[in-house]
Amino acid sequence: MENRGKLIVLSGPSGVGKGTVIEALMEDYQDIAYSISATTRKPRSSEKDGVDYFFLSEAEFQQLVEEDEFIEWAQVHGNYYGTPKSYVEETLNAGQDVILEIDIQGAVQVKEKCEQNVCVEGIFIFLAPPSLAELENRIRERDADSEAEMELRMDNATQEMKMAEEYDYIVVNDQVEQAVEKIKAIIIAERCKVD
Ligand code: 5GP
Repeated sequence: MENRGKLIVLSGPSGVGKGTVIEALMEDYQDIAYSISATTRKPRSSEKDGVDYFFLSEAEFQQLVEEDEFIEWAQVHGNYYGTPKSYVEETLNAGQDVILEIDIQGAVQVKEKCEQNVCVEGIFIFLAPPSLAELENRIRERDADSEAEMELRMDNATQEMKMAEEYDYIVVNDQVEQAVEKIKAIIIAERCKVD
């Protein structure tokens, strides 16, 4: 158990830039494994199955829920998302750190499991936008969502911001490079921590 990897959980409202931050982080930290989530959401034009997500039908997703194949799963903005259990457990057991990019409901479930000692170390980082107005700009720039989806995402974001204090760390994503530097500093400190 001593050499088990650490589970890094990055969440924050949709559109805050988690994907961009993780991409930049992983360029410098290639020893961190990224857990690809499963979702019932339809792929966006730039997304690839097995790279961005495992794109599943609702029936396929439900089957995996029944088989207890997810560490956590949640309904987010009307679609299902879940973290496949086997990949995360095998990678942590092999001593490698794993990063999850999941919503707040999922992070709460993972935290409960960490507290029950299912995973040895969980590092919970909340990525926050500089303001809700800036978040709305970023979601609009992404241009992938309809107006109704956009409103749903903004309503959810307002609720999600209230959960930030449940996390170990809050990083404001004003400038991506600075946010990445802060996350690196958190990871370095956590790796040096005396267990
Ligand atoms: P998007 O549809 O924009 O890719 O993601 C929508 C939201 O779902 C984001 O907040 C993202 O972090 C979250 N999400 C992605 N994968 C998972 C997952 O495996 N579990 C949970 N709970 N949320 C996820």
